[in-house]
Order: sequence, then C-alpha cells, then structure tokens
Amino acid sequence: MTIFFEEWQEMECGCGKCDWKGAAGTATRGRMHRGLYLDLYCPECTEFVDLIIFPAGEGCAHRDEGLTEEQLKAKQEAEKAEQEYQSLCLRSPDQLPDFPGGEMSLAWDQEQGETQIKCGNTVIWSEPVAYEGFERFERIALILKGKYGARVKDLAPTDRSLLFLYGDYYPSMFHVAKVRKELFGAAMTS
Ligand SMILES: [Zn+2]
Repeated sequence: MTIFFEEWQEMECGCGKCDWKGAAGTATRGRMHRGLYLDLYCPECTEFVDLIIFPAGEGCAHRDEGLTEEQLKAKQEAEKAEQEYQSLCLRSPDQLPDFPGGEMSLAWDQEQGETQIKCGNTVIWSEPVAYEGFERFERIALILKGKYGARVKDLAPTDRSLLFLYGDYYPSMFHVAKVRKELFGAAMTS
C-alpha cells in the first residue's frame, strides 16, 4: 500500500511475482514524476512493486517573500481553489450513504467534470475529477472499504474514466490494479 510520509525508504515491501522482499529504499526506482510520484520495481524481476506519493507543496508554503503582488495574488487564488476542491472531496466513510444488500461491485466512472462512484446505476459518491486521479482512487477505495467492508468486491474504472485516472504517468495503471487487488481481491488485468 502506498505510504504518504517521509520514512518511505524503511517501508517493507515485496514483489507480487517473485519472492523478493526488502525495504522500499532498496527497490529499483523509476523516474520521479512531477516531483510527486515515484514508482518502485522489483530488483529481481522488474515487476511493479509500489508507488510512493509525496506530500504536495511542502516546504513552499512560507516562501511568499520575493513574489510580486501579482504572483502573490495568483498563489492565493490557487490556494483558495485547492481548498474549495478539497472541501468537495470524500474524506470519511460517514459521507457515504448506507447501501442495503450484499456484495457490491463498484465502478469508478467519469461524467464530464465529475468522478462518480457507482453501484449499478446508483451514484453513491461524486466529486470534481482530478487529472492523474490515481491518488484519489486509492484514498476513495480505502474510504469505500471503511464504509462497506468486505461487501465491496471491486472498484473498476470505466473506459471513459481512464484518461484522467492514469494521465501521463503510465505506472499509475499498475498502481490502480494493485489497489484493486489488495483492497478488494480483484484480479490483476495489467
Ligand atoms: Zn520480483
């Protein structure tokens, strides 16, 4: 599972294909993407092992000195937009509806600017779509698991959601498959 803190190099991880196990710091590293994402591969067989997601924007928060008034204003507007976006995002299982019945095979869909989580034709959650939204995918998957537990059998992305879900970062495809397998037992298709 992805970790979001700094001690990632110590994290134990293992390969799903061969027997390799070791600290994340000893896995083979891919190329850092957008300064945020780092993909790790098995040093024995090159299978995708995990994706490290680094906290965004840390260390830049207090660097307002040296910005022109216009730059400062743009920065504040960006921060405001980010806050508004965050306020629309799923954060807790309590925000999800109770859903009677047994097993749930959920879909991750996109309808114009919205990511929708669907059970059959019922939209159980929607929030603004995020480009390269695989980080949201994992967070939302964890919250769905928190709410509905073992009833959830999959969170399957629809074809039309893939462009935004994976974006320009192809390891995100392996990451989404891994999250589905680890949380819901869905078979790897990649
Ligand atoms: Zn391996």
